[in-house]
Formats: sequence, C-alpha cells, structure tokens
Amino acid sequence: MDPILLLALIAAAVYLGSCARHPYRPCKSCGRSKETRSQLFKGAFGACRGCRGRGHYVRWGARLIGKS
Ligand SMILES: [Zn+2]
Repeated sequence: MDPILLLALIAAAVYLGSCARHPYRPCKSCGRSKETRSQLFKGAFGACRGCRGRGHYVRWGARLIGKS
C-alpha cells in the first residue's frame, strides 16, 4: 500500500475518532453563551444567530458520522 495513502487513512481515523468523542466546536460569535446582546438597547438580548442559540457548531467530521 502507498505509504502516503496509509498516512492519510490514519489521519482520517484519528480525526473521526476525535469527532466521535468531541463533536462540537464553540461558537465564535457568542463564545458559548448562546446569546447576543443589543448594543442599542441596554439589557436586550436574543439567541445568537451564528449558532442559532446552540452555543456551538457541529464539526464537519461529526456531521459526517451522523452526530448533530
Ligand atoms: Zn453563537
């Protein structure tokens, strides 16, 4: 077997194994607080639009193996 292909397969296996255990990444716009605050009206806040109020993103590899 091609050693480069073998390396790629090992890297993919490690990545997918990591995605199975840690399927999410924190949302960059709200930093896992799940909400955004209004800059115009003090105290007003709403669900973060970047992650739709979930506080995290599902990693690409996790989506691939059916995690959501
Ligand atoms: Zn967010």
